Amino acid sequence: MALIVQKFGGTSVADPERIRNVARRVVETQRAGNRVAVVVSAMAGETDALVALARELGGDAPDPREYDALVSTGEQKTIALLAMAIQEHGLPAQSFTGMQMGMRTDRSHTRARIERVEATRIRETLDEGGVAVLAGFQGIDEQGNVTTLGRGGSDTSAVAVAAALGADVCEIYTDVDGVFTTDPNLVAAARKLERVSYDEMLEMASLGAKVLQIRSVLFAKRYGVPLHVRSSFHEGEGTWVVAEEDVMERPVVSGVTYNRDEAKIRVCGVKDQPGVAAKLFTPLSEAGVVVDMIVQNLGHDGSTDMTFTVPRHDYARALSQAQEIAAEIGADQVEGDGEIAKVSIVGLGMKDHAGVATRMFQTLAEEGINIQLISTSEIKVSVVIEEKYAELAVRALHAAFVEDGAAEPVAES
Ligand code: ADP
Ligand code: ASP
Ligand code: MG
Repeated sequence: MALIVQKFGGTSVADPERIRNVARRVVETQRAGNRVAVVVSAMAGETDALVALARELGGDAPDPREYDALVSTGEQKTIALLAMAIQEHGLPAQSFTGMQMGMRTDRSHTRARIERVEATRIRETLDEGGVAVLAGFQGIDEQGNVTTLGRGGSDTSAVAVAAALGADVCEIYTDVDGVFTTDPNLVAAARKLERVSYDEMLEMASLGAKVLQIRSVLFAKRYGVPLHVRSSFHEGEGTWVVAEEDVMERPVVSGVTYNRDEAKIRVCGVKDQPGVAAKLFTPLSEAGVVVDMIVQNLGHDGSTDMTFTVPRHDYARALSQAQEIAAEIGADQVEGDGEIAKVSIVGLGMKDHAGVATRMFQTLAEEGINIQLISTSEIKVSVVIEEKYAELAVRALHAAFVEDGAAEPVAES
């Protein structure tokens, strides 16, 4: 008898008919002899609507505690509805909020981190032959305040529950058939991957492939939970996210991703001397702004330029902070650009091949796309470009590296 955690995203529970469909899949899995805990998101569009309401009444920066109290209600609806739909099949099912299931997090509202899952009540329900229906995205802190895990957080709830229960697999049901070589809603030629390693998936998720929340992949890797990303609308295999040694194929590029959620800030005429970077970035990190790419130009006549990217929702705050610091450290001026996109290629096989970055740059040059920033790691190359070219860049790179006929780069000897 296997223990399976299933997670259904917003589009999979968008209306009563789809909730019935989810109930049917859960019941089939249970009746096939497995124990099942199921994690659900809010119905499609519900969280967006709640966020909009919070902004309407609470301004641009609504009180974080009340924001979490509000946006977590979407999931509370779906767990009750799904439990009812499962009960209609004659199977006992019980819904659990974050608090009821023991989803303990830290206190950082709107982006809380899971500390532990006290899964006693979930286990009891399963031991009694029932289905535990669990609210994704939400938890409670040590004082009993409701917290949420950041957008897309139900994936992480599911993996954390799977890890706590020692589940055999965590199945992520969504509106596409698995993890693709690029967003299948953007590029028709995108191909489903059979297997992808935790590390590649981590890069893809953090570079914009929103099919899995980054932290869910981190948890899965840390606790060795096999993830199976698959369609909630069809049967059939999806994509397995597993340890590197279990991935047979090592294509040079497994995926192409894009992210429009960043903005760029450039501080010009910074003194080229020790301590300047610390002065610039310490206040930003203290304010909770997560800086992504940083590029420092070669110094010239004792001064240099420092360019970096920040999440777009922190852009206004980061820009005014950079302006203040620039004045303090005697920099010439600060420029900002909110219309950028980061486009990346990711693949384990890059470790063994030379010339991948060069070919990426050539491909973009052939399309007349200017590269503003570059960053690389062992298994990825990212570039920042003008936002309006994001789709063109993704299509061109997908054609150059992934689609049939893409030339294989030369393996290093
Ligand atoms: P859910 O509501 O089920 O959590 P999400 O909208 O969060 O679903 O994630 C699924 C979406 O992720 C897909 O509809 C797809 O547009 C997008 N996506 C982006 N990149 C990829 C990729 N490489 N593979 C699969 N889906 C991707
Ligand atoms: N409902 C939340 C969101 O829309 C969490 C999730 O769907 O994973 O972000
Ligand atoms: Mg999601």
